[in-house]
Amino acid sequence: MKKVKLLILAFLLLLFLLSKFFYYDPNFGCNIFIVPSFLPSNNNTKNILKMIKKGAPDDYLRICQYVSVINKNPSCGGLDGGCFQPTKPRTIYIGNDQGNIAMSGALVIHEVCHAIQASEKRPMTERECYSAGNSYLNIVTKY
Ligand SMILES: [Zn+2]
Repeated sequence: MKKVKLLILAFLLLLFLLSKFFYYDPNFGCNIFIVPSFLPSNNNTKNILKMIKKGAPDDYLRICQYVSVINKNPSCGGLDGGCFQPTKPRTIYIGNDQGNIAMSGALVIHEVCHAIQASEKRPMTERECYSAGNSYLNIVTKY
């Protein structure tokens, strides 16, 4: 009996971890692992993704296509803790999302833009990615 209980417990723990740290949207081919951070963070990453899905479906599709990991721990001093490292092409870093959820969404889109640049072997330019983030902000602040 003891073994069965342990198994059930381990299974429940796994489910809990998956529900908390894994974003899954089979209709859009979205499988994103969210690396948690102990740093303060007000916005739930899943809510940010859902908001992007609603407001900017094209951007959402690109996220699902190009991103497998969203790491909440800052890895560099980029804009609001956002960062992309070409050595980890399917990971984006979203460090500080204490601001509002629209800004966090714009940050995700900014970093995804870098991920796309890297996968298309284009130079990493900020201009294109700032305008990608800004156009998202323009869409969501219309509501
Ligand atoms: Zn950038």
